[in-house]
Amino acid sequence: MCASIIVAVIVATLGSAVLMTKDARAAGPPPQLSAAQIQVALARLGVAGSVLYVAAHPDDENTGLLAYLANGAHVRTGYLSITRGDGGQNLIGSEQGPELGLIRTQELLAARRIDGAEQLFTRARDFGYSKSPDETLRIWGKEAVLADVVWAIRRFRPDVIITRFSPEPSDTHGHHTASAILAVEAYRAAADPQFHPEQLSGEVTTWQARRLLWNRSGFSIHPGDDLSAFDSLDVGGYNPLLGVSYGEMAADSRSMHKSQGFGVARNRGPVVEYFKTLAEAGAPAGRGAPLHGIDTTLGRWAGTGALHAVVERAKRQFDPAHPEASLPALAAVDAALDGLPDAAWRARKRREVQDLTVACAGLFADATVADFRVAPGDEIEVTATAVNRSSAPITLRAVRFPAGTSSGVVAVARALAAPANGAAAPSVDLKRTVRIPADAALTTPYWLTSPPEPGLFTVADPTLIGAPEDPPRFAVDFVFEMASRPLVVSRPLAFKWTDPVAGERYRPLEITPRVSVRPDTQVMMFPERDRKPHSLIVHLVAGAPQVKGVLRLEPPPGWLVEPATAPFALDGMGQEREVVFQIRRAAGVVHDLTPGTLRAVAELAAASSGDEASARFARGVVRIEHGHIPIQTWLCAAEVRLVPLAIETAGTHIGYFPGPGDEVPASLRRVGYDVTVLDELALGSGAAGLARFDAEVIGVRAFNTSQRLRAAHAALMSYVEAGGTLVAQYNTNSRLAPLTAPIGPYPFDIGRDRVTDETAAVTFTDSVNPVLTTPNRIGPGDFAGWIQERGLYFAEKWDGKYLAPLAMNDPGEKPLAGSLLVARHGKGTFVYTGLAFFRQLPAGVPGAYRLFANLMAHGKGSPARAH
Ligand SMILES: [Zn+2]
Repeated sequence: MCASIIVAVIVATLGSAVLMTKDARAAGPPPQLSAAQIQVALARLGVAGSVLYVAAHPDDENTGLLAYLANGAHVRTGYLSITRGDGGQNLIGSEQGPELGLIRTQELLAARRIDGAEQLFTRARDFGYSKSPDETLRIWGKEAVLADVVWAIRRFRPDVIITRFSPEPSDTHGHHTASAILAVEAYRAAADPQFHPEQLSGEVTTWQARRLLWNRSGFSIHPGDDLSAFDSLDVGGYNPLLGVSYGEMAADSRSMHKSQGFGVARNRGPVVEYFKTLAEAGAPAGRGAPLHGIDTTLGRWAGTGALHAVVERAKRQFDPAHPEASLPALAAVDAALDGLPDAAWRARKRREVQDLTVACAGLFADATVADFRVAPGDEIEVTATAVNRSSAPITLRAVRFPAGTSSGVVAVARALAAPANGAAAPSVDLKRTVRIPADAALTTPYWLTSPPEPGLFTVADPTLIGAPEDPPRFAVDFVFEMASRPLVVSRPLAFKWTDPVAGERYRPLEITPRVSVRPDTQVMMFPERDRKPHSLIVHLVAGAPQVKGVLRLEPPPGWLVEPATAPFALDGMGQEREVVFQIRRAAGVVHDLTPGTLRAVAELAAASSGDEASARFARGVVRIEHGHIPIQTWLCAAEVRLVPLAIETAGTHIGYFPGPGDEVPASLRRVGYDVTVLDELALGSGAAGLARFDAEVIGVRAFNTSQRLRAAHAALMSYVEAGGTLVAQYNTNSRLAPLTAPIGPYPFDIGRDRVTDETAAVTFTDSVNPVLTTPNRIGPGDFAGWIQERGLYFAEKWDGKYLAPLAMNDPGEKPLAGSLLVARHGKGTFVYTGLAFFRQLPAGVPGAYRLFANLMAHGKGSPARAH
């Protein structure tokens, strides 16, 4: 276990080497290469080829092939994921939607730090499962996403484009096929000067990739498949410098997709990949592996003989015990790069030389701040630190503090002491107070600053399209002189601290509002039968040393809040305060069940802010923290959806065994249920322990993730037999955790049937079934306003003792009856449902609440009773 962690860390450092100086990751210390990693980077210096891999989602990418291309073939390698995976399910927390997209974005970046590839995106949203590429391209907006793929190709300039999926219709996610269709069209469109000419400028030109390939791997090949049109390549080789095979590296990379539960075993044997040529430009190169017949050396350009010679000399002369001895050779490469005619490759190779120079010199530099957050217009102390850990003579000429701040350039002209034999050199530390500009934009991901379209994130600055995350906004530039050549090393401002468990950690400096305003919920449900006010807690957090003002709720018409305003004073950065408001519907509003939006606004006293406009704060700072990714920060509108609904409930006490990241228990409490969240220990007490509950509910995938739950089947069935109601939400019969034990009292099979159109018509095939009548009479209106999908993992085959009262289907498909199964068992009732209550209830969909109340009431067989 320890060994695997060590290898992951070493390779993580190497992977980011390419991006080291300009995009140094504020989430960790600046990367430092070992001698072996320097040798790999030197090998890469002599290669000038590139491959862009295209697929639809985080986890679609072939990490084995990426690892081999970047570290074995030494070519520039990129993964273009059309989406950020924001429509999936989360196995490590309760984040959904844009927050899940943030986690998945960072999981891709963590994977790339291991396999050494770069990460690109388009603006397309992962709107959930799609059954056809036509539907996918219609919802995304094909023209816009195609333009984004072309933009990625024109800037990345790949020799070879590889699609994960076939552009031909097949039995897979519509996003998958659409990603391949886009790659095929973009392969041609990128070379067409008439296609989005506004993308073309001095730096970005049209681009014709040499070859377009479709990549298949072992898991997608079935016995009898005709592979005669495919070329194969074993990418499972071992890299002795890194001490890892590409199959092992691939597994470590893929295991970063933790929110999808994709930890995989390391493959130490052959890894055979198959490639079919979909298109080729120029003279046919015949059959072969991806880069066959393409010159990926510096010799692909005329007049680079001298450059090639100095690069080879630098590789040959490298002494792992004395990397600093390579500095003159690297300076010679830098000078010879003037002879490389291709401007983009010239700039790229210059950056590689610069990174290698820093690495060979054992040079450390970072720029840390006194706090991890600061408000626009405020000051923060910055410490610029540089240390020379080699015998190379290095002079620090100047330190440029961030542009737009008051400190500007500090000239130093100080020779950095080289370490005495075996000892450490002292560091140079410069402290300056920096004032962040009053108009500095607040920290939030660029694709989440404005409301999105249904299929596309809104990005105001077109140059940001495709970037995995925002570039660092404030950085310190260190101007060194080494071997008579200047070397500029840029470090983003970062907060560095010591975690008692994790040790030294870095996080990016956040520009945050003077006050964060965050309601404790985004949805409040108001049952008609119950007219008493509901409490809303609003959290305030100071983003400046002194914050004083008034917090005000702005309710929609027909709603009353108390108090009308609440004054507050926060004394100290990060100080928190909770304000409790009471919210109710105005008297006389009886039959209007239209939801409304309430806004929370903090108005700061004029003295503490510049102008009137900026004195209103109506957003909350949200941070997402998981151990395998850097801390993510985004700003969420301080808004609450107020939803009145006509709901009756039978039974109050609900036992709930949650699935991963389950928000249903909190949702049920909003309409008055007393929910006890059960853990595995509670199952130990058997049916007797469950008897106190009016209904027992199982969260999504809980049978998949809990062996104890599967083992408790007999106890759960005894509870039902004795008169209880058991509601099981969807589980999967997948490779993650095949269901080996039954879920219900009689057999049924869970399949992969789903209805992805959230507006699909629902037919009542058994309209007198109590789950559709008691205590709430369910009608078509209860299926209005659903989000993302109707349901998934429906039952496929079931015992005759089950009743299936609903039917629904996606357009053009036959009706599916497996979304809801109900069976009497003894004196009680068992329910299995694939309906997506886990999405609808947290989103405040009234009809979903009314139907769920019926499912839980079924075993009572009693008339409605309010409580
Ligand atoms: Zn996918």
